[in-house]
Amino acid sequence: MARHTITLIPGDGVGPEVSEAARRAIDATGVDIEWEIHDAGLGVIEQHGQPLPEHVLDSIRRNKVAIKGPLTTPVGTGIRSVNVALRRELDLFALVRPCKSYPGVRSRYQDIDFVIVRENTEDLYAGIEFEQGSDEALEAIDTINRLSGRSIRHDSGISIKPISIGATRRVFRFAFQWARDNGRHKITAVHKANIMKYTDGLWLRVARDVAGEFPDIEFEDRIVDNMAMQLVQKPELYDVTVMPNLYGDILSDLGAGLIGGLGLAGGANIGDEIAVFEATHGSAPKYTGQNKTNPMAMMFSGVMMLRHIGEVDAGDRLERALATVIREGRAVTYDMKESRDDPTAVGTSEVAGAVAEVLQRG
Ligand code: NAD
Repeated sequence: MARHTITLIPGDGVGPEVSEAARRAIDATGVDIEWEIHDAGLGVIEQHGQPLPEHVLDSIRRNKVAIKGPLTTPVGTGIRSVNVALRRELDLFALVRPCKSYPGVRSRYQDIDFVIVRENTEDLYAGIEFEQGSDEALEAIDTINRLSGRSIRHDSGISIKPISIGATRRVFRFAFQWARDNGRHKITAVHKANIMKYTDGLWLRVARDVAGEFPDIEFEDRIVDNMAMQLVQKPELYDVTVMPNLYGDILSDLGAGLIGGLGLAGGANIGDEIAVFEATHGSAPKYTGQNKTNPMAMMFSGVMMLRHIGEVDAGDRLERALATVIREGRAVTYDMKESRDDPTAVGTSEVAGAVAEVLQRG
């Protein structure tokens, strides 16, 4: 059996707990993995001078595959997201987030099964911003006012929304190919092209072009606000949805809500050569160190990772084991219970033990 070397970034907040649980579950599939464990985030700044040290990026570049726990981004401090930086540094241009429900999950919905593909490098998420009152902001405002004939107020902060033909084309080509490879039949392009004609309008135009290259896959588009409503009212109509970065961020949480919560939503950041797997949820700081949060989101990311490295059978077994633990409903965390303080809820590490046991049972 081939040995795989994979970079593991435990993350911070509840990251180390859910990462350890996910590693145990992945190891229990029997796939031979050598883990290269590296810390990143605010906690390593003192030691390495930056939150995303070069040796961490080098490890991922070498191994081509990584799985990471969430990393905290303080709000309103000027410190930029390490998660976004990682995606940008490694050019992980597509974020794939399956929204699939399993019997036994506590949710208003059953039989949810659609996928969000989120463009990961552009849009308002590109991090091109000018702070209110700075010389750069004032210069940008003057320039934009001159070029557009409009008048942005001088006490504004500015965030820029770039959407390019190149990045749009590659994420749609990826999504169509992914749909084809994974037995999916339809792509829905999500946008607000009626209002943002030169960014979302471009996005839609390129989507239509790429759709012409994949005649076997159905294509349609939806305006993002309508999409939000449709996903709540008629989620069964959707298969693979493709959206710019910010809409993808927001609708991913909506998707997580449909399938039982953030504790169950996994994902994969994919580039041409490198893939980094991570849950949709963040570092849930208030639960740090309490052995409380649900590691299944990270385990479902592990399912995607195993399939990605060619261990399809192990990925399928891990998914089935997770489905069994969810269906049996005994070894699940608080978020999967009717009441948040249900005393029968188990901890993060107990879920890992239960999943490993189901895998070992075979
Ligand atoms: P969050 O996802 O960390 O938590 C929101 C709430 O969701 C939690 O309080 C908890 O009630 C619930 N939750 C989240 N994960 C759960 C789990 N595994 N099991 C059970 N319940 C869970 O979102 P937030 O509070 O907005 O963000 C906290 C920090 O995480 C911020 O610093 C943010 O920037 C960061 N973040 C990181 C990533 C990432 O690493 N990719 C993603 C999102 C947010």
